[in-house]
Amino acid sequence: MNSINDNLIKVHNLIKDAVKAANRNESDVNLLCVSKTKPKEMVIEAYNQGERHFGESYAVEASEKIEQLKEQGYKDIVWHFIGPIQKNKTKLIATHFDIVESVDRDIVAKRLNEQRPNDLPPLQVLIQVNISDEGQKSGCEIKDIDALIACINECPKLKLRGFMGIGKDTPNRDEINSEFAQLKGLFDKYKTKLKDFDILSLGMTHDLDLAILNGSCEVRIGTAIFGAREYKNKIMNDVKVTFIGGGNMATCIFESMIKDFDAKNITVSGPHLEKLQKFNDKGASITTNNIDAIKDAQVVFLGVKPQILTSVLEEIKSSGVDVSNKLFVSMAAGFKLSSISGLLNTHKIVRIMPNTPAKLGLGVIAVVYDTDVNDAQKELSKKMLCHMGTCIEGDEQALNVIGAVCGCGPAFVYRFMEALVSEAVRHGVNEADARKMVEQTVFGSASMVIENQDSSIASLREAVTSKGGTTFAGLTKMTEGNFEQMMQNVIQASLDRTYEFEKMF
Ligand SMILES: *Cc1c(COP(=O)(O)O)cnc(C)c1O
Repeated sequence: MNSINDNLIKVHNLIKDAVKAANRNESDVNLLCVSKTKPKEMVIEAYNQGERHFGESYAVEASEKIEQLKEQGYKDIVWHFIGPIQKNKTKLIATHFDIVESVDRDIVAKRLNEQRPNDLPPLQVLIQVNISDEGQKSGCEIKDIDALIACINECPKLKLRGFMGIGKDTPNRDEINSEFAQLKGLFDKYKTKLKDFDILSLGMTHDLDLAILNGSCEVRIGTAIFGAREYKNKIMNDVKVTFIGGGNMATCIFESMIKDFDAKNITVSGPHLEKLQKFNDKGASITTNNIDAIKDAQVVFLGVKPQILTSVLEEIKSSGVDVSNKLFVSMAAGFKLSSISGLLNTHKIVRIMPNTPAKLGLGVIAVVYDTDVNDAQKELSKKMLCHMGTCIEGDEQALNVIGAVCGCGPAFVYRFMEALVSEAVRHGVNEADARKMVEQTVFGSASMVIENQDSSIASLREAVTSKGGTTFAGLTKMTEGNFEQMMQNVIQASLDRTYEFEKMF
């Protein structure tokens, strides 16, 4: 593996070549080292090579890194925030960064202005302009630039310095080139009108030459300096999750999550702190205040009983907390998406229904998404649940069926097992052996089904049933007892009860 040292030399050489090809001066192009997801030791290595500009995209992770580096004496680093800005992160960003390159809407500008500490110089900002028509949602639309500039100019603690753009992620370099040229044109136009408007931030590892050709004065380079990023875990580490309710299922989900997520970003809220201590022991914050708990959360698990959920949702609604960017995950049976969205006024809701074997990672989890849950949030949901078992996505009707078959299913299987155990005992086997026999039989049968995906379950049954034999005799009694009809009644009864619940909430 190349050292950061070698990488920096290579990157500076690439910049030199590009500058020469563009007939520009090397001093006109600043290198921003993008250290997001990378440990502070790597920042120090680049610092020791003379680099002073570093870029970060995840507010929580970055703020910690910046604090620690300041404490260690690295005080002259210029920190650039370059990632998408969530409203609830503006305070962290305003406090820790020198330049924010990804300002893309009024509310973000206003909040950064309000939250910039008075003892710090004005926050330098760039407007991130959306230059690729599709594929990329972040950035201010060109038609909205004037309004955003007007807004920023009203903010005494912000100083507008230029534009930032991200080229489309495509192998088609002509396309990137024309996007860059377009932003350069806009930049030049505004430069004549605005004072100290002098930074055009364009270019990353794969397109820095095109960016420099198109007048970029700052290239943002991550991969070529620090190597590929380990994305998944780091994104997870930045996600703030809150559980309202710390009962059985919440515990199960929590245990599953902390295999990938940092428990320190998880908060659990419930009426009795002492019952939440087990979460605190594993690194989570605990509180009795639901509203405090959800303020900063991106994901809120609604883990209270259906009978209590309405009052919790009303509490959230009347608190005035902005829920528009939060993902709500409800595990309340019988509580429809429409009932939740009706109370919360959002459609970023996921309903899940895990069954109890999820505690062993062997569960089935039914998952239903409301209309505004985006792809990233779907991925995130699955990632949070993946250690509990198999997720099956569907609509609410499917969720009800999964609830009846898989949610109630374990009890039906236990009942069947109990009956087999008592028959073994009735015929003289001791209780302990009977249990062993039955659990291994059910486990073994399920494993046979799992291992033989190409065979139908019926064919597995037929394979162990010779006509006129002992199994055949037993199965005949199941038929005579109307076993299939009984199971039909069983599932129907569970479903009917679900529908009754749905009417209640
Ligand atoms: C991550 C990131 C970069 C760095 O990308 P590399 O391809 O690793 O050089 C540059 N700009 C922005 C906005 C980024 O988020």
